[in-house]
Amino acid sequence: MLKTSLKVLNKLEEKGYKAYIVGGFVRDYLLGIESKDVDIATNATPKQIMEVFETSALPKEEYGAVTLFVKNNRFEITTFRKEIRYINNRKPVEIKYIDDLLEDLKRRDFRMNALCMDKDGIVLDLLNGKEDIDNKIINTIGDSNYKFYEDSLRMLRAIRFATILNFRLSDEIKNAIIRNKDAIKSLSYSRKKQELDKIFSSSNAKYGVELLLEFGLDEVLELYNLKDIKITSDILGTWASLEISEGYQFTNNEKEIIKNVKEILKSSISEVSLYKYGLYINQVAADIIGVDKTLIARMYENLPITSRKEVEISSQDIMRILNKKAGPYFKDIYNDLELKILKGELDNNKESIENYILSNYS
Ligand code: ATP
Ligand code: MG
Repeated sequence: MLKTSLKVLNKLEEKGYKAYIVGGFVRDYLLGIESKDVDIATNATPKQIMEVFETSALPKEEYGAVTLFVKNNRFEITTFRKEIRYINNRKPVEIKYIDDLLEDLKRRDFRMNALCMDKDGIVLDLLNGKEDIDNKIINTIGDSNYKFYEDSLRMLRAIRFATILNFRLSDEIKNAIIRNKDAIKSLSYSRKKQELDKIFSSSNAKYGVELLLEFGLDEVLELYNLKDIKITSDILGTWASLEISEGYQFTNNEKEIIKNVKEILKSSISEVSLYKYGLYINQVAADIIGVDKTLIARMYENLPITSRKEVEISSQDIMRILNKKAGPYFKDIYNDLELKILKGELDNNKESIENYILSNYS
């Protein structure tokens, strides 16, 4: 990854441009963490970048990054820029391409995110990012209040990085979050969810939740019972343990899973819930309540039936036993049979079922 990244830098440099790896990759490199994608900053404009790499794709938005794939690695290449005036504390109104690396670094969020690496693999530390990494602390570049006023997403990013890296937040950041937190409300739910997903899926999620609660962000994020959150291996389980604003978006499939998990939590994990929702959903629920998942798997394996087809009686049989024509009453009988069989109150064999139907339905 590093070798490929340096090659990308060298390709730009050969054409006379300045190019550096910036942000997460360099931070994670110093921490010994493998990065999935690489951000590159350069003084080449998107058009010039595209001329250097014939394969890169045009940015989707104006002032966007040029995305480049080399050997399955993803590179986001952005032109050095200065961002002028923010609206809605989110999007800069005006962006200006500049020729100066330091200026580009100053617009970034945290000192540890302003580390760079040059084409020879040498780390450049123009804003004391290394000191923060060594001390496991997060500091903004310049005044925290101003940084968060400019862009309130940075508050959530601070907590996300603190969580994932297990870093402390500087006192200045803590105070600035308390002061500016209301602005988080106006961020889109999708941006908020992106950060929350990363916090909740971290192995250090508990610390992230503590930070969110410490600053009272549960209220601004409309996470109504954050105190009761249960961190589960499936992120949907974590979301299912929460009461949240309707604004948070999930796919239909995710919604269905969350709804079913919540349904199980209202009653309990049982043969019936395993039959109705299947093993996976029940294991997610087990994770939330703190029940051993292997126990649930064994329970599932021992289910007497896993679908209606396995009930040892056909509709033909039922019509014959009751001497009745087909009708919607089948459904009620089958529902009843399933429940009795699952609860172990009725054996799943034809004879027992016939007797049961005779004595209860004729
Ligand atoms: P990761 O990719 O691991 O989530 P990252 O630090 O690379 O972490 P990105 O979102 O990929 O984060 O952004 C790349 C860099 O762009 C950051 O390191 C930071 O320097 C800058 N950056 C990103 N978002 C912001 C922001 N909201 N405000 C200021 N700078 C930002
Ligand atoms: Mg990144």
